[in-house]
Amino acid sequence: MSAPPRILSIAGSDSSGGAGIQADIKTIAMLGGYAMTALTAITAQNTTGVQAVEALSANFVGTQIDSCLSDIGADAIKIGMLGSPEIAATVAQRLEDFSGTIVFDPVMIASSGSVLADDATIEAFATLMDLATIVTPNLPELAALTSREVGDAESVIEAALDLAQCHDVLVLAKGGHAEGEEVIDRVASPDGKIASFSHQRIETRHTHGTGCTLSSAIATLVGHGQPLTHAVRLAREFTHAAIAQAPGFGAGSGPLGHQT
Ligand code: PLP
Repeated sequence: MSAPPRILSIAGSDSSGGAGIQADIKTIAMLGGYAMTALTAITAQNTTGVQAVEALSANFVGTQIDSCLSDIGADAIKIGMLGSPEIAATVAQRLEDFSGTIVFDPVMIASSGSVLADDATIEAFATLMDLATIVTPNLPELAALTSREVGDAESVIEAALDLAQCHDVLVLAKGGHAEGEEVIDRVASPDGKIASFSHQRIETRHTHGTGCTLSSAIATLVGHGQPLTHAVRLAREFTHAAIAQAPGFGAGSGPLGHQT
């Protein structure tokens, strides 16, 4: 048996198990990867909202990354909620020389609407986007990162290309927040190319952890040796199936189905 890909998730904890590091560990394990974690923040939350957040010190986040990378090492790294501008800067500093794939989900707002990154933290995303292999904003995040209004297809493509060129990174602009029966995600490359992926929208309020699941699935599939665009395609299929299998827990935006 060959060794599983080693995936490090740098992200926040979601006590309700639907998003954050918990969604990452479930996804990585389901896809046959070996999950490691560097916790950035602890949230007390459920499907109705975030009741409390406590960020760890930037120093402690950096030490967790050092512990993992200096011994086991990682084939791919997923970055999610960062918790503070200092943590974002520390993560960027620690990953400067990392040669594997970095998938950066620029988490700003929970599916319940609670804010998970303040303006200073969002400003600190720029350095991480410079280091990342692929960044996976949803449409509100794409709008915030580019200071552009995004709505119709043309504006999404323009903003995604702008971000890709600005940070020399692939941009997966996720279309789940747009209207319509099809969910269209687009990958913009710095050289101006666009690839589109679409699937039938599942009408459900249970989408808590969708971004976390997708980004950690991409990291794990790339860790298995899949080319990046194919990893995006497979990760979308995995996430779509997880939404379809959502158990319907909680009074708000419930978790996906990560059960096998
Ligand atoms: N990270 C943490 C710790 C969270 O609590 C959340 C949402 O609640 C997210 C990330 C982002 O969740 P989603 O995958 O739904 O965008």
